Amino acid sequence: MAHILIAGAGIVGLSVARAAVRRGHAATVLERGEVPNPKGASVDQHRMIRLHYGAAEDYTRMVQAAFGAWESVWADLGVRHFADTGALAVSTAPDDYTARSRAAFDRLGVGYEVLEGDALAALCPQLDPPASACGVLARPGGPLFADRIVADLARFCAAEGVRIRTRTAVAAIEGSAVVTGEGERIAGDFLVVAVGAWLPGLLPQRFGHLPTYRQALCYVEPPARYRAAWADGPALVVLGERGVYTLPPAAGTDLKFGSGEHRRHAAPDAGFASALEEAREVIADFGPWLRDADQYTPLRMQVGYYVMDATRRFRIEADGRCVFVTNCDGQMFKFGPLIGERIIAALDGELSAASLTRWAAGEAAG
Ligand SMILES: Cc1cc2nc3c(=O)[nH]c(=O)nc-3n(C[C@H](O)[C@H](O)[C@H](O)COP(=O)(O)OP(=O)(O)OC[C@H]3O[C@@H](n4cnc5c(N)ncnc54)[C@H](O)[C@@H]3O)c2cc1C
Repeated sequence: MAHILIAGAGIVGLSVARAAVRRGHAATVLERGEVPNPKGASVDQHRMIRLHYGAAEDYTRMVQAAFGAWESVWADLGVRHFADTGALAVSTAPDDYTARSRAAFDRLGVGYEVLEGDALAALCPQLDPPASACGVLARPGGPLFADRIVADLARFCAAEGVRIRTRTAVAAIEGSAVVTGEGERIAGDFLVVAVGAWLPGLLPQRFGHLPTYRQALCYVEPPARYRAAWADGPALVVLGERGVYTLPPAAGTDLKFGSGEHRRHAAPDAGFASALEEAREVIADFGPWLRDADQYTPLRMQVGYYVMDATRRFRIEADGRCVFVTNCDGQMFKFGPLIGERIIAALDGELSAASLTRWAAGEAAG
């Protein structure tokens, strides 16, 4: 039995802790804030899981494995924090993200439904797509109820003997030990660093070059006539060439809009405030696709940060007895439990450090 020390109590840190105790190890999680920490990227009403990954077919394969990992989480938690609403991407050009996702589905044998014309209008009456639009609806897919998952995972881990220390910031790393902001030295047999967008600030020499981004999503109240369509409809992955997406108001959550265009280069010390006017910018990114856009009422903004580089690939680096998780991008929540399992399998010697790195980068998902 080893003692696994984990920095960060987001989906990754808690999933590593869960995987550790399931394999008979001891685990300690150090979190600079409370758990759940609303500033962490993992804490929001929902995060999307979907099979569509454009040309990144290896990640479509990994999502299939991720669904299996979530099933074992639901079994442990005794509750399913996921609504299989389906995930819909809409194509308007022969080689756009949706078309490339569809080609990957064909190669991998992933089932999907094609929706055009009246069928697309019937499913999404709140949208006004171009006549050429072609929807690709795949299941399973939809919202993972992120804040409920993080809260329940923390409870599960604590009940299984994981020590979770809140308000304990890691200030320095020495092999598989850490020194906290209070000067306390805590040692583990292995250390997993899963501090999300705070990693470049914590280890500037090694990771300071990695770009961090601020992303602000907007919760909205739709016009009454479209309420049912949003509530009963799928998560929207992408609309043509517009990098906009939505999460449906399922299981007591609210409707949420996001836009890739709205991502800004910034680090968490820039803060979490957002003026509600920002919501109008996000809604505007839907352009002519959204019927009656001016009748959507912004409720609040949700600001989060992540590390993302041009590769758009996750990065897990093992260095001796220490593992660093980064490049979580706007993508890693769905893979949290799977990543936790893989990291502990690697620490148990079942895959090499190099294989773990390749797997995370999507190079060995098959
Ligand atoms: C706006 C937004 C939308 C997204 N949408 C999706 C989506 O739809 N689907 C999807 O799969 N993914 C999505 N993502 C990405 C996903 O949420 C993140 O990749 C994932 O949550 C990262 O988890 P994490 O545990 O690595 O980091 P975090 O959840 O950020 O957790 C890191 C934790 O480490 C703590 N910490 C920081 N520094 C220290 C320190 N020095 N010592 C101790 N603790 C520390 C922090 O307080 C924090 O709690 C989105 C992200 C954002 C921001």
